[in-house]
Amino acid sequence: MIAWSPTCGDVDVDVERSKFVNLLNRTEAGRVIRHLTGHSYHRRHEYLCGNCEHVECRLRGQGIETPEHLISQCVKLEHHRMEIFSGDDMDDPP
Ligand SMILES: [Zn+2]
Repeated sequence: MIAWSPTCGDVDVDVERSKFVNLLNRTEAGRVIRHLTGHSYHRRHEYLCGNCEHVECRLRGQGIETPEHLISQCVKLEHHRMEIFSGDDMDDPP
């Protein structure tokens, strides 16, 4: 079982909507939490940590490489989004 504080730094955690994390294994849960909190290995975070000189998306160079960009904006990942979220409204996540 995964437990964490309802608030984590500058990230507000919606406990009710976060219960799906309990269904994931440790590796999957770690990836999801790092992605949702912005502490994953995308360029913006690496830039803020001093590990990278650029924040532009490495896939196309259009837009800042953030979790939001990769999930909902990156044109290079559009095909994958269609496969995974086909028909779902990205403005109103489950
Ligand atoms: Zn991109």
